[in-house]
This record gives sequence, C-alpha cells and structure tokens, in this order.
Amino acid sequence: MNVVIDLEVKRDLVLSRLSARRTCHSCEANYISNGNDPQPWKCEKCGGTVTQRADDTPAAINHRLDLYDALTAPLITYYQGKGSLQVVDGLGTPDEVFARLVACVESFR
Ligand SMILES: [Zn+2]
Repeated sequence: MNVVIDLEVKRDLVLSRLSARRTCHSCEANYISNGNDPQPWKCEKCGGTVTQRADDTPAAINHRLDLYDALTAPLITYYQGKGSLQVVDGLGTPDEVFARLVACVESFR
C-alpha cells in the first residue's frame, strides 16, 4: 500500500527554523544561528564562508509558505480522500522526527 506523509510543522516554527539557518557557500552545510554569528563565519567542514541565504529571510520564507498553502496544501485534502494520508508531527529533534517517520512507514509494510 502506498502512503503519503504530511510532515506537519506550524508556520511560526518553520519561520523561526529557516530564519536561523545559515549555509556554507562552498559545501552547502547547514548551521543554526544563535543570534550571535561569528564574523566572518567559516564552515567547520570545508572552511567556506557561512551566511544566511537570500531566500531564508522572514519575508521570503512567508512567500514560500504562502505558495505552499496555495499550490501544495490542496494535495493534503486529495490524499485524505484517497485514505492514504498519514500526518507525522515534525516537532522535535531530528532523531525524534526520524523515528516517527520510520514508525509510520513500518506500520504500512
Ligand atoms: Zn563548507
């Protein structure tokens, strides 16, 4: 059986997560800003420059989320109607969320 997973995270949390994201220009490693970024910020993996992506500003993130709501979110209703939608809580550490995703997929094997 096919399953479609909606990894659910509230908009304000997505906004704060992405607003804090910093990315290495060279290797694209991601970092989380604590509001006190080193200047310049050098990547621990490759020594490249770490900065905020132009599309990780609150205005740009809100625009992307508006596009998601308009263009992608309708698929949630579609797959709900097909009975194949599972909602997984995206709140927590990466390990916690990964364990929820694995448990969800395993329950359909
Ligand atoms: Zn790097």
